[in-house]
Amino acid sequence: INKELRKQVGLPTITKDGYKIELLSNIGSPKDVELALKNDTEGIGLFRSEFIFMNRNCKPSEEEQFQEYKEVLECMGDKPVIIRTLDIGGDKEVPYLKIPKEMNPFLGYRAIRLCLGDTEIFRTQLKAILRASVFGNAKIMFPMISTMKELKDAKRILEEEKKELKKMGIAFKENIQIGIMIEIPSAAIISDLLAREVDFFSIGTNDLIQYTMAVDRMNSKLSHLYSQYHPALLRLISSIIKNAHEAGKWVGMCGEAAGDPKLIPVFLGMGLDEFSMNSPSILNSRYIIRGLNKKDMEQIAENTLKLENAIEVENYLSDLFSDDE
Ligand code: PEP
Ligand code: MG
Repeated sequence: INKELRKQVGLPTITKDGYKIELLSNIGSPKDVELALKNDTEGIGLFRSEFIFMNRNCKPSEEEQFQEYKEVLECMGDKPVIIRTLDIGGDKEVPYLKIPKEMNPFLGYRAIRLCLGDTEIFRTQLKAILRASVFGNAKIMFPMISTMKELKDAKRILEEEKKELKKMGIAFKENIQIGIMIEIPSAAIISDLLAREVDFFSIGTNDLIQYTMAVDRMNSKLSHLYSQYHPALLRLISSIIKNAHEAGKWVGMCGEAAGDPKLIPVFLGMGLDEFSMNSPSILNSRYIIRGLNKKDMEQIAENTLKLENAIEVENYLSDLFSDDE
C-alpha cells in the first residue's frame, strides 16, 4: 500500500457532502480475510462460498462449512459478512456433483437452480450458515435469482431449516438479513417485485454484462462487447437502484465494476449504497469517494445514461476526472 493510500486507513468512507458509503471486500475463503483487514475493509460484501466446494472430491460436511463461516465471522467482529450460497456450475466445475455436460453451462443448471434441484446440499449449507450466524454479523445472499418463484422457494427452505434448528434447540440469528444477487436481466427487470421480498440487493455486474449483452464472459474474441461501460448495463443498474430504494431496501454491487475508479462516481450518483470489491482496491476507492459530492454525481450519472455506446461513456468519464489521475 503506497503512502498516499495509507492515509485513508481509519478514515470514514463519506462523500464531501456527507453521504456515508459502505466499502466492503469480496473473498473466497477465510485466508482472504487478512488482506481485507489490512486494507481497512468495512466488511465482507461477497463471500463466494463455492470455493469451499471446489478442489476436493466430496461435498464438505455441515460441520466443515460451519467452521469456515464461523472463522470469517469471528475475524470480522461487528462488521457485516454477506455469505453467498453455493454458486457452482457455469465456469466453476465440481466433478463430484456429477452435473451432466451442458451445451451452454452459463445458461444451465447452476447456482440457485442447482440448490433448488438438490435441496439436500442447499439445506446443509443453510444450516451451517445459520449456526455460524451467532458468531458475528452474518447476512445470507442467494445467487442467480431469475424469478420470484426461485426467491420464494429459497426463502421457504431457509424458514424450514430455521424451524428445524429451533426444534433442536440450536442458536442462530433469527432476524438474519436476506439478500439476492441481481445478475440476470429478468431479475433486474422485475427488481421492483423482488425488492419487496428481500432486505437488500447486490448487483453482480460480471454476469449481468454477460447476460445483457449475450456475450460469454470467458470468450476473449468477444471482449469488445463485454463492457461495463455499455449504456444498456448502466440503464439497468440505474433502474435496479431506483426500484430497491422505492421499496426502502439498500443496494450494493459486488461485480468487478464496483471497484472501477471511472464508474464509482456514476454509481454514487445513481445512489448505490454499498461497493464490494477486491481488497487492494478499497483504499483508492475510499480516496475517490471522499473527494466527490454525491449531489454533483447525480448530474454526471444522468449525462452518462444519455450516451450511445460504451466508448463514449468511457471517454466521457476519463475526461471528467483526468486532472485527478
Ligand atoms: C458477478 O456475477 O458479478 C459476481 C459477483 O459473481 P461471480 O463473479 O462469482 O459470478
Ligand atoms: Mg455471478
